[in-house]
Formats: sequence, structure tokens, C-alpha cells
Amino acid sequence: MKRSVLLLAAFAMLFLSSCHEDVPQCFEEGPYTVTTLQKGIYDIEDSNSSNPAGVQEGGMNNCSNMYLVLGKKKALLIDLSNDIKWADNAAESLRKVFYDLAGKREKIITITHAHGDHTGMLHAFADDPEISFVLSRKDFGNDKRFPQERTTIIDGGYVFDLGGVKLDAIDVQGHTPGSMAFYVEGRNAVFTGDAVGSGSGVWIFSFDGFKQFEKGLANLISFLEEPANGVNLDDLTVYGAHAWQKGEKPKLGMQYLYDMQGVVDDINAAKAQWEPYNAGFPMLNANFKHGESVITWSTDSYARLCAEKGIEIGILE
Ligand SMILES: [Zn+2]
Repeated sequence: MKRSVLLLAAFAMLFLSSCHEDVPQCFEEGPYTVTTLQKGIYDIEDSNSSNPAGVQEGGMNNCSNMYLVLGKKKALLIDLSNDIKWADNAAESLRKVFYDLAGKREKIITITHAHGDHTGMLHAFADDPEISFVLSRKDFGNDKRFPQERTTIIDGGYVFDLGGVKLDAIDVQGHTPGSMAFYVEGRNAVFTGDAVGSGSGVWIFSFDGFKQFEKGLANLISFLEEPANGVNLDDLTVYGAHAWQKGEKPKLGMQYLYDMQGVVDDINAAKAQWEPYNAGFPMLNANFKHGESVITWSTDSYARLCAEKGIEIGILE
């Protein structure tokens, strides 16, 4: 047992750590691994070669991915990772990465949704007068942790103009009421936080959460399909906030979102494929699947939804 755990750890070190020779333009800074995705767009993950993403000896690193987008005038950091306790230089390391890459640009932080694994390092920036925050009303409208004088509250449809680079804020509620995705115009890249999961399932925590998600997912897909938004659907990459969870899939794209729509449709038709799942919470006890996409939700909520539609599906166990 011990030996197999060690082998797994070694495997994780070799293959799950982001910086190896197959990944160009990648470096580690303290507990963070920084990878260039496109010119002026970076992935910053709270994992490194000593504590790689995913499973390893002594637990797991459910690291999350921040994304940094540079325009000519402004730099936008999307999300603030877990609150890192396993390295003592996390705050200074993240500040160094942001300041080094952003240079003299005005520095802005936005956050995809109000969960601790995406707001964890707020303490590294909250008191920095050079940083301003732009935040979703429904998740952060009354959040006193952010400096009110440097915070702008927004709704879906807001456009970040970084100087030659624009991002659209899109409401994708469901995982949380105020979850947002951010689409980089002309780059076929959308940063979705946990709004559609990262490949292993989007967690929907309540009965009403599913009804929100139905609207949020439809909103995201219709934004991407709108010809005026100029998205090349064949080339789109959906960047979730827990990239390691996509496993062997090379990337998530439009088909992933269409399969997610398939899960929603199957649930609404009371013919969802599902299997038991144990996330440690009773309200997340089943994975509902369609194609490559998964909604993690509860059998009680599913049965209740079916009953609302007049379809009796019996007790699910
Ligand atoms: Zn998360």
C-alpha cells in the first residue's frame, strides 16, 4: 500500500506538474506554476513540482487556476486561488508574478465566483492601493472583505477594456448565484471558473441551483453562438478553474458545453443517466451524465423536479 502510494506520488510528480520539457514558456514562482497560453494570456496554478495538482501522498492538491490577461494599458487577473498554507511565501510569490507580468499596467482583479478556493489570496492584495477590483453583484455586492473605494460592482454584459484587448463578462449562474465567465474577444478563450465545471462535473448545490444553471448555461451558449461576438466555435477553449480535473481530455471546447446542455435536457425530460457519487455532501450524491459532461447534483432534487413535471420516477438510491 505504502509503495503504491509512493509510486502514485512519483507519477504525479512526473506528469501532473505543469512545468516539464513538453510545456514551453512555463516557470515556477514559490507555490505557483505560470504557463503562457497565448500572447499576453497566462495560466497561474497553485501547484508546483513539490506539490503537484491532483492526488499525491498525504492528500491532494485541488489547486485552482487563475488567469492573467494583458492589454496595452491594463492587466486583469481572474481569481485569487486557494489560500495557500503549504508554502510560506505564497503572498509575495503571487504579488511578484502579477507585478512582473503586468509591469506598469493598471492592475485589476476580478473573481469568477465567491468560493474560498478562488478568493483565498485576497489578503495579498486587499490593502494594496494599486489594485482595483471588479466584481459580480450577485456574489460580491455585499462583500465587505473588498475595499469599497477600489471596488466596482458589475452585472453580466460588462466589458473590460484593457487597451487593445477586451473581455466580456457573462452571467453563468448555477454553481453560485453570481458566477461569471469572461470571454477574451478575438482569442476564442473563455474563462469559466467553476460555472460549467472543469471536466469532471459542475457542482450544483441545491434544487434551485439547477434552475439557475439552466438559465446560466443557456446564456453562455447563446453568447458564444451569437455571430456578432465573432467566436470561432471550432477553435474555442473553455478554461475551467480546476484544470487538473479535465484528466486526459486535451481541452474543453464547444462540444463540452453542448454535452452539458444535453445533461440539462435529459434531466428536464426525466431520462437522465446517472450514477451514485460521494462528494461528502448529501446534496451532491449523484453524477448526471451526457456525452463527456457531468452535472453533480442530488437524487432528491432530481426526483422533486420530475415530480413537478408530473413524472414519477420512484425512489432513487
Ligand atoms: Zn473551485
